[in-house]
Amino acid sequence: VEEVEKLEEQRDDGEDEVEQTEPDKSFEELGLDSRLIRALDKKGIEKPTPVQKIAIPIILEGKDVVARAKTGSGKTLAYLLPLLQKLFSADSGSKKKLAPSAFILVPSRELCQQVFTEVASLIELCRVQLKAVQLTSSMPTSDMRNALAGLPEILVCTPACIPKCFAAGVLEPSAISDSLEILVLDEADLLLSYGYEDNLRSVTSIIPRKCQCLLMSATTSSDVEKLKKLILHNPTVLTLTEEN
Ligand code: ADP
Ligand code: MG
Repeated sequence: VEEVEKLEEQRDDGEDEVEQTEPDKSFEELGLDSRLIRALDKKGIEKPTPVQKIAIPIILEGKDVVARAKTGSGKTLAYLLPLLQKLFSADSGSKKKLAPSAFILVPSRELCQQVFTEVASLIELCRVQLKAVQLTSSMPTSDMRNALAGLPEILVCTPACIPKCFAAGVLEPSAISDSLEILVLDEADLLLSYGYEDNLRSVTSIIPRKCQCLLMSATTSSDVEKLKKLILHNPTVLTLTEEN
């Protein structure tokens, strides 16, 4: 496994040092689409946070990424912006996919709601033809079926929803193997400790080789290492220091 440790060596350095090595880049300079920049502008978000500066260009390159940065550092937009951009440019016109192109797996219902709200608002502000849905594992099967019937490009849910969808026949594993382009594990450090390992395996066993995998976490734990081995191919590892 080839890993590039970024900023790890700055762990003991002061804040000034980090700022010196991190030029004051704008969202444009990170390579983001003008529709996303405008959407951010409307949300009053002007400058990328350190984890966004580092992660966005690497994710746009299509690399698998493990990003560790403290809570509140802006990890959600660090993956949502490049994820949306990738879906903007995917050739969606020709044939409609039978399963989502992106899964965002989160450890709790609250986070599911938060991420869904963020992605839905970005889609609306960008005025693009993309659809996101959220599922919770306590939903009746009919609601899951309805949510997926509109062929959303983005699915936000807890890992427990996936085997439930398979069992109910509302998602086909073979369609996911055809369609999935991006898999995000948000708060990856919590996903295993909350007991989602078996659920995650039902996803990781069918993700296509071409799928880009992003693993976001606030801490490094043996669980994150385990997930990394389970799903990532030659990831770029980004570790931001506490000062960031
Ligand atoms: P994390 O997932 O790292 O804990 P979040 O993605 O939840 O952090 O972001 C924390 C807060 O910071 C959110 O309220 C978010 O809207 C805000 N935020 C994210 N990026 C920026 C930015 N570039 N500029 C200003 N605020 C931001
Ligand atoms: Mg987060």
